[in-house]
Parts: sequence; C-alpha cells; structure tokens
Amino acid sequence: MSSHEHPLGISFEFFPPNTDAGREKLIHVRDELAARKPRFFSVTYGAGGSTQARTRQVVREVGESGISTAPHLSCIGSEKAQLRDLLLQYREEGVDSLVALRGDMPSGMGSIGELRYANELVEFIREETGDHFDIAVGAYPESHPQAANLDKDVENFARKMKAGANMAITQYFFTADAYFNFVDKARALGVEQPIIPGIMPITNYTKLARFSDACGAEIPRWIRKQLESYGDDSEAIAAFGTDVVSRLCQRLLDGGAPGLHFYTLNQAAPVLKIVDNLTD
Ligand code: FAD
Repeated sequence: MSSHEHPLGISFEFFPPNTDAGREKLIHVRDELAARKPRFFSVTYGAGGSTQARTRQVVREVGESGISTAPHLSCIGSEKAQLRDLLLQYREEGVDSLVALRGDMPSGMGSIGELRYANELVEFIREETGDHFDIAVGAYPESHPQAANLDKDVENFARKMKAGANMAITQYFFTADAYFNFVDKARALGVEQPIIPGIMPITNYTKLARFSDACGAEIPRWIRKQLESYGDDSEAIAAFGTDVVSRLCQRLLDGGAPGLHFYTLNQAAPVLKIVDNLTD
C-alpha cells in the first residue's frame, strides 16, 4: 500500500466484465480512479469458481496501474487442492492481498467443498502461504442474512478475524449507526483490526432494491420513498443518491471509520462525485 495514498484512505471494487468492450472500459475507469491514489483495488469472484479465470485476468489488467489489486476468493464449492493452486498462482503473479469469503452456493450446484466458512478459508490461507497475503474478510453491520441474530454473526466475524485476517470490509448499508454498533460489538469481543465501511453509490433504484433484498442490506424507508418518487428521472436519482451517500460517508469518517471501500460497479463518475464531497 503506497505512501502517497489518498488522505481519506479509499479503495475501489470492480467486477470482472463479461465482454472485451467491458474490459476496455474498465481500464479507463481504473485510470480515473487510480489518479485518486487509492490504497488498493479489488476484483470480485463468482462462487463455485465460475469467474475464477476472469477474476485473475482482470486482477492482472487492473494491477498494471501499479495500485495493489486484491482478488476476491471464495471457498464454498471448492476443494483445498484447487484453492492451493490458485493461491500459489496469485503469489507467483505478484498479488499480495486477498479478500477471503465463504461465497454463496449457486443454486443447483453440488458439493459444499472442504471449507465451510470464511474462518476456515483464512486459516487455510495462513497455513499454505504464511504471512504473504494481506487478508480482508467480509462484515455485515445489519447481520448476514443467514445468521440467527447479530450477536451470533459478530461472534462468527470475530472468529475469522482471529484466524488471521488483517482487516474487514463491510457489506453496504445506509444507516451509519448500524456500522458504529457493529464496530462496538466487534471491539468488545477483542477484534482490533480495521473495519472499513463498504459504500454503495445510489444510481439506479430498481437494481439497488433487488440487490439489497438479496444481500440483506436495508434501504431506509425515507430513502426508498424519495427514490420511488423520482420514477425514471435518473438525474434526480443520481443527485439525491450522491447527497445521501456523501453525508453517510462524512458521518462515518467523522465517527472514526478507518477509510471507505467503494463498490464502483465498474463506473467512476458516481464514486468520484462522492469522494469530491468529502473532507479529511
Ligand atoms: P462467513 O463469514 O463464512 O459467514 C457466512 C454465514 O455463516 C454467516 O451467517 C455467519 O454468521 C455464519 N458463520 C460464519 N462462520 C461460522 C462458523 N465457523 N460456524 C457457524 N456459522 C458460521 N460473494 C461472491 O461470491 N464473490 C465476491 O467477490 C464477493 N465479495 C464480497 C465482498 C464483501 C466486502 C462482502 C461483505 C461480501 C462479498 N460477497 C461476495 C458476498 C459473500 O460471499 C456472501 O455474503 C456470503 O454469503 C458470506 O460470505 P462470508 O465470507 O461473509 O461468510
């Protein structure tokens, strides 16, 4: 992580595009965002290995920017031997950080694999590659959808931090207090590593609503109502979204959040509008 990084400590997440045109566009997005001197980029991964090859390719292309680029890696549905190969390939290719996740089983797919939870994946990475990789894991301020309750989820979260993660990145959320509450609970269980809020820009209400249902992130009623009232007016949605998310980010930073990780959805403009509104 560079010594000239952005004073706010920002990082940006991409997904591997399906098409060559998408990959070319991502190079421009990467360059626009690299100019803001992020701490790192990350590239998502499809559960069950579906986009493993694409993730690797995009990690290489994004990493050509000179900014440390972390592949996401999920363990569900994979065997240890496959994961070991992938870790060794990444190490050979100069990758020095990973986002380690359990992932979700694609419906209709067979076996769960040898590692059932992210804490087991973190242990496995440490066993196989020692301290080579900086490891980030996922955190859920509004509780992971499958967890019995938030306290149980924080216990499980603490387990994976103790297994050797260097930091956590949260699922996105729109209520700052959910983040502060989660951090307090994790600290009470002895977690000392940084917990970076994951930030989702608001650009498209329908997509956001669908995605939020699936991953258990709550869109507060007042935000939903306001977005619904704009109908198809994408400019109004973007302006309101920028305002709401910028204020959320500022509150998080003012309250001590150790940085911000942006879910870019491979677009630079919505994220940059937010970053430009923030003060150190
Ligand atoms: P875990 O930490 O393993 O937790 C999963 C559930 O099991 C939770 O309910 C937890 O409370 C419970 N649990 C955990 N450990 C134990 C244990 N030892 N015993 C019993 N119960 C336990 N998905 C992708 O497919 N690709 C991606 O690239 C991707 N990137 C992501 C990036 C971030 C920052 C985040 C927050 C999520 C991302 N996801 C991604 C989604 C993620 O894979 C899903 O949310 C998945 O359901 C959980 O993964 P996890 O690593 O948080 O799981």
